[in-house]
Amino acid sequence: IVETNIELIGKYEVLPLYKPRAKFSHKGDYGHALIIGGSYGKIGAVTLASRGALSSGAGLITAFIPKCGYNALQASFPEAMVITDSNTNHISDIKFEINARAIGIGVGLGTENYTLVAFENFLKENKKPLVLDADALNLLSIKKSLLKLIPKQTVLTPHSKELERLIGAWTDDFDKLEKVKVLSKKYQLIIVIKGAHTVTVFLDTCYINTTGNPGLATAGSGDVLTGIITGLIAQGYEPLVATIFGVYLHGRAADIAVESTGYQSLIASDVIETLSSAYLDLF
Ligand code: AMP
Ligand code: MG
Repeated sequence: IVETNIELIGKYEVLPLYKPRAKFSHKGDYGHALIIGGSYGKIGAVTLASRGALSSGAGLITAFIPKCGYNALQASFPEAMVITDSNTNHISDIKFEINARAIGIGVGLGTENYTLVAFENFLKENKKPLVLDADALNLLSIKKSLLKLIPKQTVLTPHSKELERLIGAWTDDFDKLEKVKVLSKKYQLIIVIKGAHTVTVFLDTCYINTTGNPGLATAGSGDVLTGIITGLIAQGYEPLVATIFGVYLHGRAADIAVESTGYQSLIASDVIETLSSAYLDLF
């Protein structure tokens, strides 16, 4: 067992990470974020992630989804641009010509065989920093050899089931952490162990988040986090910084939201709406 460095992440740790906006700046300075995902019945996951990315401060957002989601996404989120796959219900071929600075992939994606092929082909071509969540993680678990295709410092955001599929069952929290560290070191990945007190692991260091509450145990809250981290990378934050800062802001936004919603009634959209307060609360 190698020693683990532990850092607790609160307001005073994230404040120095914050990048203020310059007066003479335009949307191009804040980067273009791309969210790839969605399938029939799960387009909302992409909408939530895309809204999270734009509200985190990215300059532009494009969603890449199967055709069936076009009207719903455009109508519910007019700030987004949308590119559709050639297929109707699931993604089958990931092709786009935009120059995104950060790409988040996996929310609502599904695990069809042809989606796995599309994901593999995408990984072979891609050089950009990635945020992998949800079904992108499940596809990695189905075909572990894909891990070799992932760029270094890619961010993985599994909840506990997704993590178990990836690293196998653990005996206790120490065993879980050791297994995550092994995976992080083998492929130089940033791994976010989501839950109460989310822990971000990179090599031998663990960053323990101090914000968030059980109100977040609700549909779509992880999709919002994926969007926030992708949006921060698009703005030029290094992937590890974007992850630590994003997890903090997401939890803080939820803490502010529950003051008016209560734990039971908080929904993922509320967290997007209070992201502004989480930023303002830094100062
Ligand atoms: P997902 O399961 O992918 O929707 O992700 C759930 C999100 O909510 C993650 O960011 C978790 O860290 C967060 N979350 C879930 N349950 C709790 C909890 N009991 N306390 C704090 N955060 C939580
Ligand atoms: Mg999720």
